[in-house]
Amino acid sequence: MTYTPAPTRYDVPGFYRRCGRSGIRLPVISLGLWHNFGAVDTPDTARAIIRRAFDLGVTHFDLANNYGPPEGAAEETFGRILLEELRPWRDELVITTKAGYYMWPGPYGEWGSRKSLLASLDQSLRRMRLEYVDIFYSHRPDPGTPLEETMGALAQAVRSGKALYAGLSNYSAADTLRAAKLLRELGTPCLIHQPRYSMLDRQIEAELLPALEREQIGAAVYSPLAKGLLTDRYFQGIPADARAGRDPRFLTPAQVTPDAVARAKRLNEIARARGQTLAQMALAWTLRNPVVTTAIIGASKVSQLEDCVGAAGKLGFAAEELAGIEGVLGAVGR
Ligand code: NDP
Repeated sequence: MTYTPAPTRYDVPGFYRRCGRSGIRLPVISLGLWHNFGAVDTPDTARAIIRRAFDLGVTHFDLANNYGPPEGAAEETFGRILLEELRPWRDELVITTKAGYYMWPGPYGEWGSRKSLLASLDQSLRRMRLEYVDIFYSHRPDPGTPLEETMGALAQAVRSGKALYAGLSNYSAADTLRAAKLLRELGTPCLIHQPRYSMLDRQIEAELLPALEREQIGAAVYSPLAKGLLTDRYFQGIPADARAGRDPRFLTPAQVTPDAVARAKRLNEIARARGQTLAQMALAWTLRNPVVTTAIIGASKVSQLEDCVGAAGKLGFAAEELAGIEGVLGAVGR
């Protein structure tokens, strides 16, 4: 059946936030395709999640060259769905990709050289059957390549029209400031930074978030649900179809400790008192600082996506709620 997006998709007030000092607004909840969109995953589920996301106003889809498995497969899956269903709405979508992690053998298949970044971008465009991506990221800083070269490659990607904006991911505050200065001088200012951030991982609060605020760069935070630990996914043990059960490379069963589950259950009580699920409260919490433009979630089911998007219904916190959360978290993740 031909897909027609829901006419109500832009009806939720306050669902879009301006990204730093730019003209771009992003949905507060974005969909990442790191897991569940590879060649090993069910194509119908992948398609249903993407369709539902767009129907709910999620215009921002986050990819990278290496998402799969195998590497490249998520871009191929997304490219197929775009071609078959979403192509007429390309101008309503913000599609991102990244280069920096291992993609192909030899000295040019990873890290941050001009050679590697620009070849990888061309490959990503071919896999997604796109003329351009909206944001092209340097996926990680490369200690072996001059920062000038990596930023020069991002700027060239933008100048060539193969990307509309440049972004950084996993850069420290100090490296971000140096990179942002170089990008500004090159006439292609840094739009966005993509760091890891959740209630269980708060390292960016001390330096990176203040630096982004000063530079007026938006933050797209990833793994805001701590890969599922900040949801009810593990309340009754480790389900066989959950990440820790299915693909323990990125969330090991050993990380699902009795302590982590007990903490999540205490947070769940606070969430319920707010009228939210734990996942919704965890997402709203990452968005409490306006420098965070969007939280990039993953989802293995349409129902998870719907639950997460529902976070937008209540983003604010009372002081007592924040204090209650701090009481449960203590020094965790700092
Ligand atoms: P999350 O922390 O959002 O974890 C997603 C997982 O949580 C899902 O796969 C699902 O687990 C579970 N989940 C999601 N919603 C719910 C819900 N409502 N109720 C119960 N369980 C739920 O993020 P990810 O770690 O998946 O990362 C998100 C995105 O961030 C990636 O797809 C990618 O785009 C980006 N990213 C970027 C990185 C970078 O270096 N720049 C690194 C990592 C991620 P299950 O699968 O078990 O059902």
